Amino acid sequence: MSPATPTRPEPVERATPLPRIRLLATGGTIAGAQTGGSRSYQAGAFSIDALIQAVPQLATLARLEVEQVAALGSQDMNEAIWLKLAARAEAALADPDIAAVVITHGTDTMEETGYFLNLTVHSPKPVVLVGAMRPATEISADGPMNLYNAVAVAASPDTRNRGVLVVANDEIHFAREVSKTNTTQVGTFKASHRGLAGLVHAGRLHLYAPPVLRHTTASEFSLAGLPALPRVDIVYAHAGMGRELIDAAVRAGAKGLVIAGVGDGNLNEAALTATAAAARAGVAVVRSSRTGGGVVERNIEVDDDALGFIASDELNPQKARVLLMLGLTRTADPRALQELFFTY
Ligand code: GLU
Repeated sequence: MSPATPTRPEPVERATPLPRIRLLATGGTIAGAQTGGSRSYQAGAFSIDALIQAVPQLATLARLEVEQVAALGSQDMNEAIWLKLAARAEAALADPDIAAVVITHGTDTMEETGYFLNLTVHSPKPVVLVGAMRPATEISADGPMNLYNAVAVAASPDTRNRGVLVVANDEIHFAREVSKTNTTQVGTFKASHRGLAGLVHAGRLHLYAPPVLRHTTASEFSLAGLPALPRVDIVYAHAGMGRELIDAAVRAGAKGLVIAGVGDGNLNEAALTATAAAARAGVAVVRSSRTGGGVVERNIEVDDDALGFIASDELNPQKARVLLMLGLTRTADPRALQELFFTY
C-alpha cells in the first residue's frame, strides 16, 4: 500500500444544512446481538433505528433517513438482493436533495456487494458500505464508530466520483480493492495492490488518489429490465483436483465458470481438459487465483488464446464472478469479456 499524497484533513465544521443521507440497511454483525454463550450471536438481530439511536453524534453529521432493504447475515446475500439494492441506491441518489447513500452490511460478502454496486450504480454521489466485526452487544463493539465514520465519509463532497467505498476500522477502501482477510479481527479488511482510498479518524477524512479504473458513472453495465443475473460458479483448484465439479457446474446450467486457480491461475490436466470442453461448449471460463494477491496474466502456463479462456487480471475469484455475471449480460465473446477484465 503506497498511497499518494493525502489531501488536507477535512475541516471539522460541517455544512449547513446538514446533507440528507439515505441509509439502506441489510443486516450483518453491525446489527447483530449475542444470543447465548459469549461466542454465539445472530447477525441482523437489531433494527437500524436502534443502531442509529446508539450513536447520537450522527445527528451532527447528516440528516439520516432509513430504509430496511434486507435483514440477514451477508452469507445469505444473493443476486436478487443485489438487484434490489442497486435499484434502491439509484432511486435514492436520483433525488437531487439526497447527497449520498450508506449501506449497512455483513462483512462476509461485503466486497462482492460493494464491487457489484461499483459497476451498476450510475451516480457520482458517494455510496459507502459499512459493517462491523463485533456484535453490537460485544465488549468494544466496532459498529458505532464504523457507522459514524461511514456517515462522515458519505457526507463529504470530496468522496464524490471515487466509486463505491467501504469504511471499517478507521480505513476507507475502494470496494473494487477491498477483501475480507481474517475471520474475526476488526482489521479484517485489506486493500489490494492499488491501495487505500483513505483514512478516517473520528469523522475526519484523509483522502488519497481517486481510482483510475472505470466505475459507477462510466460503467457500461445496466440492470434495467434485467430479471436475473446469469449463473456463474466458482470452482476451487487444488493438488489432485478432478474434473467432476467443473462438469457438474456446466450440467447445472452455469454460463460462466471462475476457477480459483493455484498460483498464477493454474489448474491441473484433468481440470484443464474439463474447462477447455466447457469453453468449447460456450461457457465463459475465467482463470483467477486462490493466492490472494498478484495478477493473473494471459498465456503464461495456460494457452488462453488457444483454449478461449479469460484471465482475471487483478480480480480475486469472488470479484471475478461479479464482473463475469455482469459481462455476460452484454457478451459471451471471450475476447470482449477479457477486455472488461482489463477495464473494470
Ligand atoms: N456472517 C455475518 C455477516 O456477514 C457476520 C459477519 C459480519 O457481519 O461481520 O453478515
